[in-house]
This record gives sequence, structure tokens and C-alpha cells, in this order.
Amino acid sequence: MLYTYRLKTPAEDFCPITAQVQGAVAESGIQEGACMVYCPHTTAGITINENADPDVVTDLLLAYRKAFPDRPEFRHIEGNSAAHAKATAVGSSVWIPIKNGRLVLGTWQGIYFCEFDGPRSRTFYVSVVSNGREIE
Ligand code: ZN
Repeated sequence: MLYTYRLKTPAEDFCPITAQVQGAVAESGIQEGACMVYCPHTTAGITINENADPDVVTDLLLAYRKAFPDRPEFRHIEGNSAAHAKATAVGSSVWIPIKNGRLVLGTWQGIYFCEFDGPRSRTFYVSVVSNGREIE
């Protein structure tokens, strides 16, 4: 089953989406399997990281800005090559196992939509697949 979500993003941030993803899993009724969270944009991505201390996201954003600064040598006419580089480094999707109808996440883990070129209206998808045990 494929679920579609939309969100409005700020200029640059890691937006928490764990609740939406867990909601898709619950709506699917799938007890055991996996779900893929996918971002169809070229200057945003999806990642899993700590959701307990908000300073972790602040530090990650700082680390990405330092690792991928805007450079005068960039040629892309849109002028957002640093955002494209950050999005590629983060990646477009994550897979999370499902057990007993719940996401198998670590205690401190959360799922984030990573915006590097906002503010924009964005979309992400959650594909929930069963391993078939429900029909045994
Ligand atoms: Zn661009």
C-alpha cells in the first residue's frame, strides 16, 4: 500500500515525520513486514536520527552546511547546488522493519524529512509491504 503525505517546509530543517509513517503502518493493518519512506525531490531527503535532543538536528544542519558550502565554482543555473549535494548525501529513502504493527525503531530514533532548499510544498511517500504472515 502506498500513502502520500504533503508538508510545508522552512528554509532548511529536519522535519519529524515518524507519526505520519507510523500512521500509514497502522492504517495498512500490516503486522509484520517493512515500510519504505521515499522523497521524490532533488534538494530534500529522508533520514533516521536522534529525536530526543533537538540539538542533534541543529548540529547535523551545521555539519551539512560545513561539509557542503555554496561555492562560486558551481555551474548549476538554479544556484542551489549545495542543496543538491546535501540531498544526495542524505539519500532519498529509508527502509524500516515492521513488527507487531509497529515501526522497529531504536529508542532514540526518529524519521526526518530533510529540507535543504525551502521553504517549499513537499511530498513524501510511505510504501508498506507485508511479508505475508498475516495470511497464514
Ligand atoms: Zn537545482
